[in-house]
Amino acid sequence: MTIIDKLTIHKASQLLRSKQISSVELTKIILECIKRTEPRVKSLISITEELALQQAEKADKLIAEGNQNPLTGIPAVIKDNMCTKGIKTTCSSKMLESYVPPFNATVIDKLNSIGMVMVGKSNMDEFAMGSSTENSAFFTTHNPWDLDRVPGGSSGGSAACVAAGEAIYSLGSDTGGSIRQPAGFCSVTGLKPTYGRVSRYGLVAFASSLDQIGPLTQDIEDCALVMNCISGFDEKDSTSVPCEVPDYTKCLKTDLKGLRIGIPREYFVEGMQPEVKSSVETAIKKIQELGAEIIWDISLPHTPYALAVYYILAPSEASANLARYDGVKYGFSFKDAKNMWDAMEKTRQFGFGSEVKRRIMLGTYALSSGYYDAYYLKAQKVRTLIRKEFDQAFERYDALITPTSPTVPFKIGEKTSDPVQMYLSDVCTLPINIAGIPAVSIPAGFAKGLPIGMQIIGKPFGEETLFKIAYAYQMATDWHLQKPTIC
Ligand code: GLN
Repeated sequence: MTIIDKLTIHKASQLLRSKQISSVELTKIILECIKRTEPRVKSLISITEELALQQAEKADKLIAEGNQNPLTGIPAVIKDNMCTKGIKTTCSSKMLESYVPPFNATVIDKLNSIGMVMVGKSNMDEFAMGSSTENSAFFTTHNPWDLDRVPGGSSGGSAACVAAGEAIYSLGSDTGGSIRQPAGFCSVTGLKPTYGRVSRYGLVAFASSLDQIGPLTQDIEDCALVMNCISGFDEKDSTSVPCEVPDYTKCLKTDLKGLRIGIPREYFVEGMQPEVKSSVETAIKKIQELGAEIIWDISLPHTPYALAVYYILAPSEASANLARYDGVKYGFSFKDAKNMWDAMEKTRQFGFGSEVKRRIMLGTYALSSGYYDAYYLKAQKVRTLIRKEFDQAFERYDALITPTSPTVPFKIGEKTSDPVQMYLSDVCTLPINIAGIPAVSIPAGFAKGLPIGMQIIGKPFGEETLFKIAYAYQMATDWHLQKPTIC
């Protein structure tokens, strides 16, 4: 075993603190791993080697001066929909293929201020629309546990690079499951924070009322460390919430006594693979042994409507957000056009991929005057019902547990011709975005070598409970310590 074996933030920062390794050395090891592994996994759109080494030098200075945050000098990857000043931010779209932002997203500023080392930007489904990274305009990312399978999406690159040891942690974004589903598929820990907990400023908008940035890490302790750095109010994001950020590492405790956890039956959907169901049930029993009270078979009856609600609201918001790509202000612009209208039309025709166009059409239709009441307004009303149902559940339970996805990672190409099948891989995650509440996916087993994720759901700004449950579980099990052979 080398010291780089399953290196976590908490272990690496100790090595840095005790001067057993420098950030420059650590960064070189990770860059080497990227060179070895990346041709097979293809998780990164850009590798920012030069920048990473400069940042590592700066981090070493900070550490020498005694200004070390646990994240200082730790190599990270950022999903390519977060703006990085002077560094290409493509959203895996031809539309933004050569877009270089003149500013940083707030999360980037926050991480830079404590000495982040960014080794690359990760591949994703175009504009974060998808569940497999197959919608990237550039290439598909491969699951490090089985290269013939998808890593999940849309933050598939961010999950795969952490699983493959190409980064110690990464950031992803989650609109309907895009952090948790790939975390489950790649056997890493992925958290979608409460809506408003982390600033969305500089995150390229997909569906603004659902999008949240969050960490993908090797374990829950690392997840708490990243959350400590990226959370908090930001005046540049009008939906960020001005409430205090606790020190999340304080809730990493192993005693679950007094916690009441509900298991909603609607999440064990028809068509769920039996191995997924049985692994998650075994994990829940473990949590029971650790002291929590489990209430099996509770009901959240509006759950089955969440998929339909999501696929009206998310495309509606996307159709408005993506109207800005007209070939004038950002990115790709079709030349040789006959006139202004032709230029806009061709820019959008050639700049967007087919899933993005499908969403724009769905959204524009749902918002059009004749159909607005029947679709958009109705969906908003059902959204309220779903949110209220969660509020009521949290009067009785401290947390809920479900599988993260109904299946293990599927084969590349298996669902590309059937968008509805693809949409179904997020049935367990998207109700959480609709309600704006936090949820984390943690490794909970394997079926024939393929990862299974468990989702723990909490009340608004109740991330601490999630950390507590996940930590107790990870201390008592070793799923999160397993590594794919590719590393
Ligand atoms: N897979 C879902 C979609 O395609 C969720 C994506 C996301 O969370 N960004 O919309």
